Amino acid sequence: MEGEENRKLLFSDCYSLTKLPYFDLNEKGVLTLTQEGLPPIVDFHTHLALTWQFSPQVDLNKRTPRVLHFFRERHVRIDMNIYSGINLKNERREGMFKEYVDGAFSNKGAVSTFTVPNILAEMDRMGIEHSVLLAVDTPGSRHVSKSYAESTQNEPRLITFCGVNPRSRRWEEHVEKAVEDGARGLKIHPYMMFFPPNHKKVMRLIRKWGETGYPILFHTAHNGLEPSFLRNLSDIELYRKPLEKFPDITFILGHAGMGFFREAAELARNHGNTYLEIGGQPPDDLKRIIDLMGEDKVLFGSDWPFYPFALPLAKALIATEDAPGVRRKILSENAYRLIGDLCLV
Ligand SMILES: [Zn+2]
Repeated sequence: MEGEENRKLLFSDCYSLTKLPYFDLNEKGVLTLTQEGLPPIVDFHTHLALTWQFSPQVDLNKRTPRVLHFFRERHVRIDMNIYSGINLKNERREGMFKEYVDGAFSNKGAVSTFTVPNILAEMDRMGIEHSVLLAVDTPGSRHVSKSYAESTQNEPRLITFCGVNPRSRRWEEHVEKAVEDGARGLKIHPYMMFFPPNHKKVMRLIRKWGETGYPILFHTAHNGLEPSFLRNLSDIELYRKPLEKFPDITFILGHAGMGFFREAAELARNHGNTYLEIGGQPPDDLKRIIDLMGEDKVLFGSDWPFYPFALPLAKALIATEDAPGVRRKILSENAYRLIGDLCLV
C-alpha cells in the first residue's frame, strides 16, 4: 500500500505535473498554474544569477527564450517523496555543478537565464505576486547585493535581501549601503561564507543588522548536494546561539532544516519570532512541519532558479489539499503579515 502511495508522487518531469489538478499548458504550450481560488502567492526564497569576480557580469535585465533551471523542467524525473535537493542530486548533480562552476568564468549558459524579466514571467505563470530575492556575497563573488538592488529598482514585486561578507574589512559600510539601496532583509549562508552561523564575525554582523529591524534568513542544514567538507558549517545546532542571543530579531530558517526539520522546528518554536521556510520539503514532511510549528510561522519558498516554481508549489498544494485555510496562510498570509509588518509592501 505504501509503495502505491509513493508511486503517486513520481513524475517523469515537471511538464507531467499537468496530471495534477493544479497545472495545465497555456496557449503557448507552457506549464501554467490553473488552480482557482488561490491567494496571491509569496515566494520567500529565490535568487538571481550569482556572479564571480573573474566572470563578466550577467545582464540581469535581459529576457531569454527559456530558463535553464538547475532542476530542468524537461526530462528530469521528479520524486516528491524526497527533499528536492536530494532529488536534484540523484538526477543531475554533475550537470548542476558544471553549470555552477561555468558561471565562475562566463556570463553565458544557465547563469545568463537567471534574470529579472525571466523570474517575473515565470511568477506570472505560477500565480506568484511577490518574491524575496536572496543575494549571497561571498569571498570571491562580485557585489551581488549591489547588482540585485540595481536590477530590481523598478520592480516592487521583487523584495531584496542582501548578503554581506563578514570577513570584509568594510562589512559595516556594506550593511549601511545595502539598506540604503533597498535591502529589506539579510541572507546568511554559512558554507558559502565559510563560517558557521555562531562564529563571532557572523554574530557581530547579526547584532549590527538587528538595528535595522529587518529579518534575517539563514540557509540551514545540508542534503548531500553541497561539497562535503563544508557541510557541517550549517548543522542545525549551530543556529541555537544566534537565536538565543538575539530574541528580538525575526529569523527565518531557510529550507526548514531540510531532513532535520524536527530539530529546526524545535529551535524555531522556542526562540522569539522565528519562521520556517519550507523549500523543497516533501508533502508528508510538510504536514509534519505544520503539526510541529503550527500554521502561522511557515512560509512558502522555492529556491528558484535551482527549481522551477511548479515543483515546490506542487508539493505545497498536495500537502494542503484538505486544508484550504492552512494553504492560504503558508502561500500568502503569513508572508504578507511578515513583510507588511516591516512596511515592505
Ligand atoms: Zn537558496
